[in-house]
Amino acid sequence: MSVIKPARRWQPAFFPFKKEPFGRRLLAKVEICVKGPLFGCRMCGNCLLQETSFICPMECPKGMRNGPCGGIRPDKRCYVDNTRKCVWYVIYKRALKTGREEKLLEVLPPLDWNKVGTETWGEVVTTIRKVGTGKFLSSVTSKDKLKKSEVWDSVFKNIRQPHWWNGDSDYHSSLQQEPVSDLEKRLRSGQFVIATEVTPPQGIGTSKLVEDIESVKSFVTAINFTDSASARPRMSSIACCKIAIDQNCEPVLQIAARDITRASLQSSVIGANAIGVKNILCITGDNAIIGPSPTGNMNILDIDSVQMLWILRKMRDEGVYLDGRTIKNPPRFFLGAATAPFASDPVLQAIKDHKKVNAGAQFFQTNLVFEPEKLDLWLEQLDKRNILNKVFILIGIAPLKTLKVTQYLHDNVPGVSIPEKIMKRMEKAGESASEEGVQIALEMIDAVKGKQGVNGIHIMTLSWESVVQRIVKESGLATHN
Ligand code: SF4
Repeated sequence: MSVIKPARRWQPAFFPFKKEPFGRRLLAKVEICVKGPLFGCRMCGNCLLQETSFICPMECPKGMRNGPCGGIRPDKRCYVDNTRKCVWYVIYKRALKTGREEKLLEVLPPLDWNKVGTETWGEVVTTIRKVGTGKFLSSVTSKDKLKKSEVWDSVFKNIRQPHWWNGDSDYHSSLQQEPVSDLEKRLRSGQFVIATEVTPPQGIGTSKLVEDIESVKSFVTAINFTDSASARPRMSSIACCKIAIDQNCEPVLQIAARDITRASLQSSVIGANAIGVKNILCITGDNAIIGPSPTGNMNILDIDSVQMLWILRKMRDEGVYLDGRTIKNPPRFFLGAATAPFASDPVLQAIKDHKKVNAGAQFFQTNLVFEPEKLDLWLEQLDKRNILNKVFILIGIAPLKTLKVTQYLHDNVPGVSIPEKIMKRMEKAGESASEEGVQIALEMIDAVKGKQGVNGIHIMTLSWESVVQRIVKESGLATHN
């Protein structure tokens, strides 16, 4: 149990993948004995404590290094391990209390696994020497907060931001002058846009997929293809995107951090862009804990969704791979991210969303919304952060087909909570539950379409693609797409 970090327990430290010299091994032992009890440090060798209010983010089961995922439970516990609070919720709360919340905006790098398990104090001492030991020591006792933070940053930023990453807290707008996709073009022109999703098939048969694409394509601007939603394998998003392109339809490729590495991300998007995919949605993805048995990897991700955005934006705008190699013909795409407006409190959620926009998100697709009135608080926070004019927002709308589906969403899908009044309506509807579900979806669309900052909707069909046409027509949005 750590002394300073209010967490349930102190997880085991990482082990180095190499044999270090005796001096470094000894230093590593001393470091873990001090930082472990104090901060819950796991010796990731890529220390971020300065930016995370001195709580080790590596206690998050997924090892999220840039803020919480969208799965915090209503009681603020982690949905992967509900015996503990979401470590990022605790970090955010402490940052707000100590006035360090803007520090949370810096885009932090993924692990350099070559350093995992090794000491960092040696590097700190070397960097302090470079900056000037006297200067550093006098900053420790200085009352001048600005000077202190400048000196500390000159030491610790160098350590946490290696040259191959160079993350910062600034907004990086796209360098592409012209829209690359129809989705981007319509959003830029101020059109209220409709996107939807078509569920990828379980097997190699594509006739149902083609039929579903055909049934929705003239009513929407773009179609998302999920990437093994709920950690259940299906046809890959990239294969579905290719089939959609062949049907003259614009796809949105979804990539879940859960199943990729930094290398596979970069190779996949080069391939996807080469076959005509222009829209990419970067998501963390549901953890294997909610997937089928046997349970897959529930542990540290190689990269998180913020890091995905940062890498893809640099590939597109700077023409470089993460390792610094130049890309001869850089890809061109419209980058999106998912957001869960109600996963946490709106002030905290807006910090994470702000970071995604800074990193490269040009559009958001939200998690399912069933309480549109609550959206205002979140939109207000985004506005306060001056990012509403930097990102297009598509609100997630789901037509509920049955009471069972409604219950499943409420109980099992991270970040989704169905209010009691909707649950009761679905229950009361009995045989007509699907009709009630359509009416609820139409009410949601009506409630969100005039909100400032909302640029469209994203109809998440939950395998009920045939309802899209009706919803678009009856919502009065048919002329928009
Ligand atoms: S809810 Fe998400 S971010 Fe929070 S500790 Fe769990 S996995 Fe990590």
